[in-house]
Amino acid sequence: MPELPYDALGEVISKETLSFHHGKHLKAYVDNLNKMLPGSGLENLPLSEVICKAEGGLFNNAGQVMNHAMYFEQFANNPKPMGEKMKALLERDFGSVEAFKKEFEQKGVTLFGSGWVWLSADKDGKLVITQQKNAENPVTMGLTPLLTFDVWEHAYYLDYQNRRADYLTALWQIIDWQVVENRL
Ligand code: MN
Repeated sequence: MPELPYDALGEVISKETLSFHHGKHLKAYVDNLNKMLPGSGLENLPLSEVICKAEGGLFNNAGQVMNHAMYFEQFANNPKPMGEKMKALLERDFGSVEAFKKEFEQKGVTLFGSGWVWLSADKDGKLVITQQKNAENPVTMGLTPLLTFDVWEHAYYLDYQNRRADYLTALWQIIDWQVVENRL
């Protein structure tokens, strides 16, 4: 279980949401993964490689552990602002930081059902946004994941009910861009 260095995230994510999302949902994925890995032949691999080789329930639980670890790690109550390097890359590949944020939110809003919206770097360093269903992670497509918004209802329903768009817009306030840039 990744430890959380916060127990609430201002007005953006409540303590109650975090207690269920981290303490119940993520905990269940971690427990399931720990039950399924022994004897799978994949137990000595890094999680990102497990995800690329596993199928079925093992893939789903391994994916959800990695996705949530990255999701919770990128937030802070006093987040570091975006640095010049990330700003330049976003401007190069999306036109502007605002255009990137708009497209990222739109991809989150229009993802049907449960899943994740991701910002990743491809093999040439170009930044791309992907919509991924359920437990999917861009590492299976050869991409390097940098930033992710969880759009499963369990991520926002207690705080925002059905207003997924409002939740996605609010998340920018707590993104620690230093964490995101370190993933480049
Ligand atoms: Mn989640």
